[in-house]
Amino acid sequence: MKTGRYNGGRGLVAEFNNKVAVVTGAARGLGAASARGLAAAGAQVILTDVLVDEGEVQAGQIRKTGAEAVFVAHDVTHEPAWEAVMSLALEQFGRVDIVVNNAGVAPTGKPLDELALDEWQRVIGIDLDSVFLGCKHAFRAMKIRETKETGGGSIINISSIMGLIGMGNGADYNAAKGGVRLLTKVAALEGAPFGIRVNSIHPGFVDTSLVRDAIDRSVEAGRTQGGLGSANEVIEMLSLSHPIGHLGVPDDIASAVVFLAGDGARFMTGSEMVVDGGYTAQ
Ligand code: NAD
Repeated sequence: MKTGRYNGGRGLVAEFNNKVAVVTGAARGLGAASARGLAAAGAQVILTDVLVDEGEVQAGQIRKTGAEAVFVAHDVTHEPAWEAVMSLALEQFGRVDIVVNNAGVAPTGKPLDELALDEWQRVIGIDLDSVFLGCKHAFRAMKIRETKETGGGSIINISSIMGLIGMGNGADYNAAKGGVRLLTKVAALEGAPFGIRVNSIHPGFVDTSLVRDAIDRSVEAGRTQGGLGSANEVIEMLSLSHPIGHLGVPDDIASAVVFLAGDGARFMTGSEMVVDGGYTAQ
């Protein structure tokens, strides 16, 4: 990939001129922030999601900054949809350099002896099967080496701190995100001979609709069992469980995505980048 620019001791600034990035789950949250971050660093970005209207708005906002961005409706659990996204990228932009497997859903939130098999399978499908499909089809596109310039790339899989440590009532999500962690390492080994780097990111709690909705659901469930306080109290409690004292914001994760995508991370593959305000340092 193109060499990053060193800006006077303040770190490498990624530059993605002519590079093409695919970001899944880009209508909201971490995916939207990652798409904006990659576009700001010069990439042409294909945003994908099942939320068509919100995805179109995100792509439109990026285009207003002068960057190139398109939105494609895409269910990450559907293999033919992956083939269509990669075909569009290759036909319209001629290459695929960066794939961010970000789309995901929250845990069902039930104890494992109450979790139905179809609930388990839904979360595993969206949070793990999708990353397998994303790596598989990214590999096929990135292995196309018509010129020395077009082969290789960087795949970034969004796991979670819940891919590193367990959480009560999170069996489906923990299993999926732990699976993403090791799938990333296998992909890194298989991708290395082709110049394809594959890394995972493990965010702590970041203030997005995924977290807010999960909190609302658990508060609601707590109410019926006489448990948890208000959503604000849960946010406060969650903030304090991060030694840094607050939740993350989507741009905190987008910075890590931009770094891993760029040449500043050229010696990183198979690694797990933890971005969690110290949550797992305890
Ligand atoms: P979010 O709900 O704000 O955004 C997730 C996006 O994924 C949504 O736009 C949604 O429509 C999309 N999506 C869901 N199912 C899809 C499908 N089948 N096909 C295509 N798109 C689909 O959530 P977020 O917090 O931005 O989470 C993004 C990723 O980061 C997820 O993988 C999540 O597990 C992970 N993560 C989030 C946090 C956090 O605290 N927010 C922490 C660790 C990991």
